[in-house]
Amino acid sequence: MTMHDAKFLPFALPEIGEEEIAEVVATLRSGWLTTGPRARQFEQDFSAWLGGGVESIAVNSATAGLHLALEAVGVGPGDEVITTTHTFTASAEVARYLGADIVLVDVCRDTLCIDPALVERAITPRTKAIIPVHLGGRAADMQALLAIARRYRLRVVEDAAHSLPATSGGKLIGTLDSDATIFSFYANKTITTGEGGMLVTRNSEIATRARTMRLHGISRDAFDRFIAKVPSWYYEIVAPGFKYNLTDVAAAIGIHQLKKAHAFRERRAAIAAQYDQGLAGTGLVLPPQAPPGDVHAWHLYVVQLGSQARTTRDEFVERMFAQGVGMSVHYIPLHLQPYWRDTYRLTPAMFPVSHSVYERTASLPIYTRMSDADVERVVAAVKVALR
Ligand SMILES: *Cc1c(COP(=O)(O)O)cnc(C)c1O
Repeated sequence: MTMHDAKFLPFALPEIGEEEIAEVVATLRSGWLTTGPRARQFEQDFSAWLGGGVESIAVNSATAGLHLALEAVGVGPGDEVITTTHTFTASAEVARYLGADIVLVDVCRDTLCIDPALVERAITPRTKAIIPVHLGGRAADMQALLAIARRYRLRVVEDAAHSLPATSGGKLIGTLDSDATIFSFYANKTITTGEGGMLVTRNSEIATRARTMRLHGISRDAFDRFIAKVPSWYYEIVAPGFKYNLTDVAAAIGIHQLKKAHAFRERRAAIAAQYDQGLAGTGLVLPPQAPPGDVHAWHLYVVQLGSQARTTRDEFVERMFAQGVGMSVHYIPLHLQPYWRDTYRLTPAMFPVSHSVYERTASLPIYTRMSDADVERVVAAVKVALR
């Protein structure tokens, strides 16, 4: 079956409205396709939307944003960066771009996010930064992580690819006291620009450095300072930068997606509630909830087979596909991936929680274009698959 087969329910689908389409068309007609007025507007809207006096730097992927953030806080050869094994490889690979080492630690069983106690145990004199991942849109224990970072003078770069919008301690992810927070607008994320990301920080030095490195190391300051006095061909290169800028075509989509972010989340939260109700009593371990008072972005709905389950995870996923329901697994932990396993000689025994979760976990579809009937259909399929 294909994505276009009416009977198949894909694992993820973006929701693009007429506003996005009209803005893209207007951008195409405007003559300005690359980073320009719409990217600037998207950044300004994003900062205003988050509140809390942050600066936003639009980039062409969250991976690019994570790379820029680590570069801006000074991660380099000989440094260690701590992150979770239970994530996508992008959370970790960016440290390797800079010649730093990655130290993977296990997750908490209840949140599936990085375990602060294990972070503290993994700290060495070489440790430079921590990258928490808010798995599925449920915030990691940021209070504990920020306290550890303060105590050991470490930098914190949040991988918030799943968490627009989510809160921690009542504050929106993106406005906490970390050094930088990175959102993803990849096609299957909570809002999308096709490909894209946003680096958010309240530290003006990080913002300036990230802006410079985002576009070939061109010093904006120098550019802005001189532009009035010299012809516009003049610019200065102050570092060997990257090519990470977001196009105006993509930003045109983002401007309208951002306006819908809360409404999208509410729809996903309603789907999660419908799953919670429909799947109660099936023996499945349902996804971690946010603490009372906090907002869960519900990017993912991650279930685990219970100890009494009669099927394996692989069988379960196969039986869901056989019934026309797209599924995914979040994540194949990094300690099982050949590159990470072999580079750091990692074994499953080092990550007992992540490993046991991995063997029993699968993710159900959760996106705004699903109808209540679609959700019911998934619930019914789960019950058949578990028989
Ligand atoms: C999607 C994702 C990324 C990377 O996002 P891109 O915008 O595709 O670069 C990073 N971390 C996590 C946890 C993700 O899910």
